[in-house]
Amino acid sequence: MTRDDCLALDLDDPFARKRDFFALPDGLIYLDGNSLGALPKGVAARVGRAVEEEWGADLITSWNKHGWFTLPGRLGDRIGSLIGAQPGTVVVADTISVNLFKLVAAALQLRPGRRVILSDTGNFPTDLYIAEGVLGMTGGHELKLVAPEAVEAAIDETVALVMLTEVDYATGRRHDMKSITAKAHAAGALMLWDLAHSAGAIPVDLVGADADFAVGCTYKYLNGGPGAPAFLYVRKDLQDAIVSPLSGWWGHAKPFAFSTGYQPAIGITRQQCGTQAMLSMIALDAALDAYNGVCMQSLYAKGQALARVFIDEVERRCSSYSLELAGPRDPARRGSQVSFRCPEGYAVMQALIAHGVVGDFRAPDKIRFGLTPLYTRFVDAFDAAVIIERVMAERLWDDPRFKARSAVT
Ligand SMILES: *Cc1c(COP(=O)(O)O)cnc(C)c1O
Repeated sequence: MTRDDCLALDLDDPFARKRDFFALPDGLIYLDGNSLGALPKGVAARVGRAVEEEWGADLITSWNKHGWFTLPGRLGDRIGSLIGAQPGTVVVADTISVNLFKLVAAALQLRPGRRVILSDTGNFPTDLYIAEGVLGMTGGHELKLVAPEAVEAAIDETVALVMLTEVDYATGRRHDMKSITAKAHAAGALMLWDLAHSAGAIPVDLVGADADFAVGCTYKYLNGGPGAPAFLYVRKDLQDAIVSPLSGWWGHAKPFAFSTGYQPAIGITRQQCGTQAMLSMIALDAALDAYNGVCMQSLYAKGQALARVFIDEVERRCSSYSLELAGPRDPARRGSQVSFRCPEGYAVMQALIAHGVVGDFRAPDKIRFGLTPLYTRFVDAFDAAVIIERVMAERLWDDPRFKARSAVT
């Protein structure tokens, strides 16, 4: 593969025009859209209008006049169309952590008599921390962690809920949603999927997989901005069987009746809790326009092709340095990000950032690159590999200024 081959692939790329949708700084190779998606150009003007015209001029009438109150559900439907969920089964609200709390608690209520929440050791820590928090309140339950490859075999009749992240945040390894969900159901357990590294990156079919619950965030591949609200999915026939433990007024059947007792709304609305950050919701609404007309299968195919170029080039150029692919080589078993194990990973990533390639570092030893297919070009993957080679060959990372750790890595 030459740089010219990559330029030719970019000319053929059906998503090439999508890059214009984003405000990416010139000269920067941004491979961290799996952690904070790039800024879609339309967001600033849309949020500016919301601030000046909606908040500034129309003030409180905007809850009705500009549809603020119904925005969480409408955004849920927009995201639902990207993850194989029917209208009315996804709502945008809160954070992944908060949404997990609601759904883990609900799942345990639906399976009284079963003691175990099953997850894997590769799950994102907050998912496990939240499960621990729920267990601390219920008493008598247990969080069981097994290796990712051992999950299916560990599902038995003691399990109330199988809780997994489809695409591993650190390595990109992808679980088989359909097969694990079927196994959970066969054992009478419920299934919750975290789609943080799936939504907007790879095709997801929640209905096809028969998932019970799902959560995900919107600031990664969906480009909603820092701290953008998360989403949650509840299968249609379970929606009215569960009640949120965070039984706030936005999930009440009649929030503006101001009655003293809690009565949950019908459907997914009952998973809302309290007043949402409207400016963030509006930013997300504008950001999701980037996905208009996008076929997730084709986008996935581009992501896999990008990863192939990137892995091949890095491995070809860096075979004599300690850099080793983490996670599966088989594209079918990987999401849209690539990580390498690297003993001096933190310093290497800081040096890469100083040389114009932005990825991130995940302890203890992984440098991680998100190949967001909507705006990453083949030539970016190629040029990034060239710079990685230079940083390794010239030991540019071996510099005290790249070794002092910041709070966010
Ligand atoms: C990014 C991420 C989160 C983040 O959770 P928040 O509560 O939204 O901060 C949770 N789970 C996974 C798997 C993630 O990748």
